[in-house]
Amino acid sequence: MKTKTKYIFVTGGVISGVGKGIMAASIGAILKAKGLKVSMQKCDPYFNVDAGLLNPREHGECYVTHDGAETDLDLGHYERFLDVEMTGDSIWTSGKLYKRMIDDERAGKFGGKTVQLVPHVTGLVQQTFIENAKHFDSDVHIVEIGGTVGDLEGSHFIEAIREFPSKVGRENCLFVHVCYVPWLSTSEEFKTKPAQNSLRDLREFGIIPDMVVARMDVDKVIKAPHVAKKLATFCGVAEDAVVLMPDAKSVYEVPLNAVKGGVLAPLERFIDHGDPDMTEWEKLVKSIEAKPKKTVKIGLVAKYIDNTDTYLSVTEALKAAAWKNGVGLDTVWINAEEASVRDFEQVDGILVPGGFGVRGVEGKVAAAEYCLKNNKPYLGICLGLQTAVIAAARIGGLDGANSEEFDAPEGKNVVYIMEGQKGKESTGGTMRLGDYPAKLTKGSKIAEIYGSEKVVERHRHRYEVNQKFMKQINAGGLTVSGLSPDGKLVEFVEGTECDYFVATQAHPEFRSRPYRAHPLFDGLIKAASK
Ligand code: GLN
Repeated sequence: MKTKTKYIFVTGGVISGVGKGIMAASIGAILKAKGLKVSMQKCDPYFNVDAGLLNPREHGECYVTHDGAETDLDLGHYERFLDVEMTGDSIWTSGKLYKRMIDDERAGKFGGKTVQLVPHVTGLVQQTFIENAKHFDSDVHIVEIGGTVGDLEGSHFIEAIREFPSKVGRENCLFVHVCYVPWLSTSEEFKTKPAQNSLRDLREFGIIPDMVVARMDVDKVIKAPHVAKKLATFCGVAEDAVVLMPDAKSVYEVPLNAVKGGVLAPLERFIDHGDPDMTEWEKLVKSIEAKPKKTVKIGLVAKYIDNTDTYLSVTEALKAAAWKNGVGLDTVWINAEEASVRDFEQVDGILVPGGFGVRGVEGKVAAAEYCLKNNKPYLGICLGLQTAVIAAARIGGLDGANSEEFDAPEGKNVVYIMEGQKGKESTGGTMRLGDYPAKLTKGSKIAEIYGSEKVVERHRHRYEVNQKFMKQINAGGLTVSGLSPDGKLVEFVEGTECDYFVATQAHPEFRSRPYRAHPLFDGLIKAASK
């Protein structure tokens, strides 16, 4: 175990959505490129215990960790930038924190003491930093604080990081504040006042940051010494510790922009570990910027087409596969509630992502049916496997086949709820979650795509394929090509006669990396570009 882990705390100011998470992950990527072992965690002020019951339209994708936690999409950024598998404890919401507190209090763990915000809640927050650093055996542990400084509901996290240096030494803590510097077009100048105010809010807690990241509305890295100087003067940081960050065309440019913007000086004062080797990032950005000869159209048959963050890992996985294959990607959002054959005809391949609830499901079944009958490339993810099974069963003669999730008629529940899962539909953390292995059929297309007969993928579902109906499902053109090791659960199916019709009960998107496309997405893009 490392005796001296260093900690970086990233806070945000002025407005949310300026890319604090991406900046935190980029700092992590740079440190990793220096050969350091880096881990990350998020502290989020909201009171939900996890993201499992949150509406994805409001909150974006629910990201599932390998150990089965339902978390925020930020953890997806961390994994894509660091290529380190996060755990459920890589995120602490206020809800989870308070729940632990109250459970401990009820269990009598405080020995009669009055339980207080300080030191108990803040102490627990600090304990999560130390435990995470220990779990990952990290040289550097990065903590992103959700929300913006000054939000009432995040103050226990800010107080916790303010106190933390007294535990591990100020020299082992780096405070980074990410804020927004707007451009005022009428007077044609950048305005630092909102950033100054947010830095003052931070100072009120007793934190003077070691690095200020100013997000600006410019399209490339610029030198704006007057902005840096002003922020430095008003905020008590060194001028070379003000990093100016432009808008990026792709989030994967941010690590390189951060280096160009001057992040190394303050970082290297904190931890000296040689130059970062950014070749992998340069290679990735080059492939992103390469002019493709060809563009493939992938139809995403989905419900929340007004908040595409709901499918963030899916769209990132598609992009990674397109970059790998050197093709352009045109993601066509097809509203599942209105989807028709005309929409399916216009795309080169179709992806049906995961989903819950009956709304739009018939459009997804129609998409699967179209692909099965017309040999159109199809990738079905979780619900997208279930809709493929429903479509096949109907083609195979079982009229009205459906999932129990959508009121399947008696004797036609080709997708059903397993014993032990019944009655838990609206409770949190009760699905089949996280990594599970599957055994693929030797010689199946899917085994060939993976290049292996044993795979592990992350899951998040309650319903299963009902193997009682295998005859009809097979007759409809689907073959099972992967089962759970005990043979009880269908994990993968493929179109028997199709060139590329694959579906999985799992969520392979969570294992895709920008520089390492997932085989199933790679296969879809390859098939669609033929
Ligand atoms: N609603 C389906 C189930 O619970 C599919 C879940 C999903 O797509 N993630 O099994």
